[in-house]
Amino acid sequence: MKDHLVRLLSDDGSLRAAAAVTTTLIEQLRQRQGTDPAATVALGRLVTGAALLGCTLKGEQRLALTIEGTGPLGKLHAETDAAGHLRGTVRQPVSGLPLKHGRLDIVGAIGRAGLLRVSKDLGLKEPYHGVVELHTSEVAEDLAWYLATSEQIPSTVALGVYVEPDGAVSAAGGFLIQLLPGARQELVPLLEERLAALPPLTTLLQQGEAPLQILQRLLSGIAFTSQGEIPLSFRCACSRPQVSQMLQGLGAEELRHLRQREEETAITCEFCKHPYHFSREELAALGG
Ligand code: ZN
Repeated sequence: MKDHLVRLLSDDGSLRAAAAVTTTLIEQLRQRQGTDPAATVALGRLVTGAALLGCTLKGEQRLALTIEGTGPLGKLHAETDAAGHLRGTVRQPVSGLPLKHGRLDIVGAIGRAGLLRVSKDLGLKEPYHGVVELHTSEVAEDLAWYLATSEQIPSTVALGVYVEPDGAVSAAGGFLIQLLPGARQELVPLLEERLAALPPLTTLLQQGEAPLQILQRLLSGIAFTSQGEIPLSFRCACSRPQVSQMLQGLGAEELRHLRQREEETAITCEFCKHPYHFSREELAALGG
């Protein structure tokens, strides 16, 4: 199944929902970032969460999620746009943590304390920034906490990344259900019951269940209309002019240091790991 996201709206306007499969994308991220299993799961959850929270973006709008916790991973960052392009990076890709009660220690890898930042560029004068303290450091609950407290939208977020013993990702995805203003109150216990009865998300994805089928399980009996399907894929927007601009921003002195140190300076994009090479002459031309 190709990575994609589906969106839907209930016919009575009570709720909207999105679900995504991101297995290929998260495996690509693992290979690019060189993450260990706990880091793969943490970054995979955040990038999948970005796809879900970004499902209402339009045109040139963009969304970014950053988690900065006290654990060994340091900072995790994910970005998306309206066309389903995603990228993500983690400062320390190896958590080095042992299993905890036989499971990957995601909370330990992220750290029990820290901040979740949400940035949205909606094409307005100023980008929107929201920040909350980490709620459980499991990522899904943190995003739901952010949506409920900062955006006042009661939301359920589920995220799942399954890593095989060799480190490869065999299933990744998630879903988001949001109650809209004026939602029928009887939906709350109904959804709670359905969520409690839902098999693990990664099990469903491994069995080949599509995002729409997962939503149908949760929303059966509720009339809804599909709002379309978005293909999800990795894309990095980095470019040589962008890296040149970043170098220029370092200032003349720092550029001179770089020029003196090496014959050639290599700057590697933190997202796609593409190396950009600058000769001494090129650094000089940038003002060093
Ligand atoms: Zn890049």
